[in-house]
Amino acid sequence: MVLRTISEVREAVRQARAAGQSIGFVPTMGAFHDGHLSLMRRAREENDIVVVSLFVNPTQFAPYEDLSTYPRDEENDARAAAAKGVEILFVPESSEIYPDGFATSIHVAGLTEVLDGASRGAHHFDSVATVVTKLFGIVRPDVAYFGQKDAQQVLVVRRVVRDLDLDVRIEVCPIVRETDGLAMSSRNVHLDPEARRQATALNRALDAAQAMHGGGERDSARILRAAQRVLDDAGIHPEYLELRDAETLDPVTSTRRDALLAVAAHIGTTRLIDNHLLKASS
Ligand code: AMP
Repeated sequence: MVLRTISEVREAVRQARAAGQSIGFVPTMGAFHDGHLSLMRRAREENDIVVVSLFVNPTQFAPYEDLSTYPRDEENDARAAAAKGVEILFVPESSEIYPDGFATSIHVAGLTEVLDGASRGAHHFDSVATVVTKLFGIVRPDVAYFGQKDAQQVLVVRRVVRDLDLDVRIEVCPIVRETDGLAMSSRNVHLDPEARRQATALNRALDAAQAMHGGGERDSARILRAAQRVLDDAGIHPEYLELRDAETLDPVTSTRRDALLAVAAHIGTTRLIDNHLLKASS
């Protein structure tokens, strides 16, 4: 069932909750691929009712970014969600989420200023934190599902939930990849065949670094150099390629604690991100 207004969603969720049903929630920007579907599958397994939101949040795009060309296919998405057993697909207009006079913004200090926050501006994660909190307020889920693909987003959302005592559990699902390793992304449809081939270097670079870490290397600089070499060979100049503490996102000089290895790069005109978690124990 596609719902477009906050009041309709509230009413549907109220009825479900009154019947003692649990609510699982998957926030998305649509153009579904198997990454999105894996979140829905997990939500379906663990809850009585699954709510998915499809909202290309305009405020989290910088003026020079790809809001106007972001892939949109509501009809297909509605079919795919229904096939996964999603009860409610919430597809609000922008004016439903941001009525005239909307003035609130949530800022998570620290976590939002590095990696994608540095590349895209701290406003990006302010907008993500604000819209996710608003969606939590509308849906009031028991559990919300996010992808490790957006590792920094997961950390930001977890921090909001903790700091504001939001009554929702956050579950994180692994990155779903194409058979050649490219992390699935709605933006991959914009890659022409050559860019599509080049894009595989992102995961190969992370793999090379992970292999070094797996072989016992713990020096960040050496691990990063292994990844950088793969990117160089592929002619990719990353926006960032960094190792940071997996919880705080502080810079690290060794991988003796769990570290997030994260990369962002423009492949042709398409901006892609990917990451691997380097576990201290591996
Ligand atoms: P998006 O529509 O890109 O905002 O993504 C919606 C949710 O799906 C976010 O929690 C993403 O992290 C997650 N997601 C996107 N791509 C993948 C992927 N390849 N594997 C797993 N989760 C993903």
